Amino acid sequence: PAKPVSIFTEGWLRRIYDEKPVQPVRSRFPPEPNGYLHIGHCKAIAVNFGFAKHHKGVCFLRYDDTNPEKEEEKYFTSILDIIKWLGFEPHQVTYSSDNFERLYELAEELIRKDKAYVCHCSREEVNRQRGGPDNRGARYACEHRTRPVEESLAEFRAMRDGKYKPGEAYLRMKQSLTDPNEGNPQMWDLPAYRVVEKNHHHRTGDRWKIYPTYDFTHCLCDAFEEISHSLCTTEFQQSRISYDWLLEQLGMKVPKSEEKGPMQREYGRLNVGGTILSKRRILMLVEGAKVEKKNPDGTVEEKIIPPAVRGWDDPRLYTLVALRRRGIPAKALLNFVEELGVTDALTEIQPFRLESSIRKFLERTVPRQMLVLDPVKVVIEDFAAEDDVEITVPYDPKGAIPGERKVKLGKEVYIDRSDFREVDDPEYRRLAPNKVVGLYNVPFPIRATTFSKDESGKVTEIRATKAAWTTEKTKTHIQWVDAATAVPVTARQYNSLFKSESPNTLDWKTGGYADDLNPESEVIHKDAVIERGIKDLIKEHSLDISSSSDNLIRFQALRTAYFCVDTDSTEDNIVLNQIVSLREDKAK
Ligand code: ATP
Ligand code: MG
Ligand code: MG
Repeated sequence: PAKPVSIFTEGWLRRIYDEKPVQPVRSRFPPEPNGYLHIGHCKAIAVNFGFAKHHKGVCFLRYDDTNPEKEEEKYFTSILDIIKWLGFEPHQVTYSSDNFERLYELAEELIRKDKAYVCHCSREEVNRQRGGPDNRGARYACEHRTRPVEESLAEFRAMRDGKYKPGEAYLRMKQSLTDPNEGNPQMWDLPAYRVVEKNHHHRTGDRWKIYPTYDFTHCLCDAFEEISHSLCTTEFQQSRISYDWLLEQLGMKVPKSEEKGPMQREYGRLNVGGTILSKRRILMLVEGAKVEKKNPDGTVEEKIIPPAVRGWDDPRLYTLVALRRRGIPAKALLNFVEELGVTDALTEIQPFRLESSIRKFLERTVPRQMLVLDPVKVVIEDFAAEDDVEITVPYDPKGAIPGERKVKLGKEVYIDRSDFREVDDPEYRRLAPNKVVGLYNVPFPIRATTFSKDESGKVTEIRATKAAWTTEKTKTHIQWVDAATAVPVTARQYNSLFKSESPNTLDWKTGGYADDLNPESEVIHKDAVIERGIKDLIKEHSLDISSSSDNLIRFQALRTAYFCVDTDSTEDNIVLNQIVSLREDKAK
């Protein structure tokens, strides 16, 4: 049989390999540990780990921890956990900070080669040297650029030893700032080292007061780890030239050749519309926000906005921990990334694309169950002793998913309130007085006879009898749950977090986004019931959502939606999360 086609066997990623067809392939995924990963990172993980796996090579997880002001322990743990959940195992977990000594030595070497200098200019002055705010003006060097090597070396050591405060000194690479023909701003003497105020680092402690920049660190760490293919997103396209430049200065790469050293190539980001991916904004949703609003009369009002979600893993977010908690299978996410393909173009999708892909995946992988969100009791008056049975029902009527369950039938069953009407209508196909409807898997349909209501007018009970089909055409079946054995559950259904389709364009500065929050983003059904078969599904699985193995309990609730069992579940209260609806809902 022909080898299956994948994003690695043809297209952009194939060409990247052919540009440098080495064995073994060595790649890396280099997140900054300053936040939770989001759906876009799933593409980066699939590309980097997947590329190595396809070519039987190795992929490193490298925490790019060069910014001590923004990093936190909890992010490290979560990143590794999510990579494992997605089904990948890093060849080795490394930290940019492990290389701080070596990077420092190389910075001194660069100075000795007269390819770097310590500069004391202000940020504004540096911007002017780089052609002003639009980068269009004439560029020029400052006096520090030509200072003697020995002087830069001494000043760099003084930076290291704490003589300077942030902003008072930088190590700058001596690139092509003064070459009028060099149009790429990434070559205009980028900073290589900076003095950091809050400099306590979670791994190196108080050892360093200066920290290397991304532009200095990334290519060198790639070289240390002997990365063959350094794949990143297209924002870094302009940086490729400085990436190569630094490696060449230090003899780690040969100009215009990929013989030696790592090769950087850039693929297009994956962006999901209709939601928020920015770390700072998600933080506002998670923790709430304090914003300042200027009134027309000039006074300033402080406004406290409460949290909009329960945490970074709230199922309404698009962080990977949230998508996992919502019940989206890791494999379905990877399939989705594959379906979209990889090129150097940006991929912008709306959530419905993701959902329809998830739905397709679940359709052929999860068992069916009967869940009633808003139950109303039906008493089958002529229910006889011989009707009291346990029906054996396959998990999947089409037989694609193995297994079966026992469904209990009794005299009293619950159906969904929305499947009953007090007044019939010829167009109506479900239960109403004197109308016949089928109950899934039950040998006879039922006919409603009477019903009772409470003072508020709410239907409390429907009475029915066993019936026969009156016409062949209108055999509608509805889901139901045996009242005597029903398992009470709390079912949570999700809609988009914002009313607007482009929440990124909302007012995040003075808190206007809070007015656009969708009050229906989470709908909780506290009195829902499910067939007792759920208990067997739970027995077969672990409830540990934090486990990196992807074995959540997921099912299709007939005529309702796909659900999974949430970790909020306790011994006597099962909590369900809606993964996706059964059909695309245009009204949302
Ligand atoms: P963000 O700013 O969205 O939080 P980031 O680029 O700061 O993302 P990093 O932790 O630096 O996040 O990302 C690690 C890797 O993931 C990088 O190689 C980056 O290019 C890649 N990546 C980040 N966002 C996306 C995305 N939306 N699509 C594809 N790859 C992404
Ligand atoms: Mg980054
Ligand atoms: Mg970022």
